[in-house]
Amino acid sequence: MDKITCSAFERGRCVLGTLPYGKDFVKTIEDFCVQESIQTGVFSVIGAVMSVTLGSYDQNQQVYVTYNKEEPLEIVHCTGNISLKDGRVAVHAHAVLADINGQTIGGHIFSETSIYAGEIYIQELLGKPLKREYDDTTGLSLWKL
Ligand code: ZN
Repeated sequence: MDKITCSAFERGRCVLGTLPYGKDFVKTIEDFCVQESIQTGVFSVIGAVMSVTLGSYDQNQQVYVTYNKEEPLEIVHCTGNISLKDGRVAVHAHAVLADINGQTIGGHIFSETSIYAGEIYIQELLGKPLKREYDDTTGLSLWKL
């Protein structure tokens, strides 16, 4: 692949919401999307978490390396997307988080991330649902466009 592969989507609903205290970040967004029949979309979140599980993809080993932080952290920036993986709604989110001193960490957000508070903006996208499929080159589950 030597160029961008793409598809066009129509804008659906623009949704603003608050994330519930103490619930899992990824699962909460996925459950909301299932409930609202959102299969494709993009989102951003600001807020705070009580704990987080972040990871980075080890490109040599082709595995995610994760770590957990059990401390209050501010969600400085979080962006993500919604698509289908194995027929189910899958949230893909990355975030930069800051501790009480403003020191930041960042990465791919995994489950076992506990919401303190959050404000989410979701842009639903309409059209043929966006699906993920295993990619031999990277070992990742990437968009099939
Ligand atoms: Zn990621």
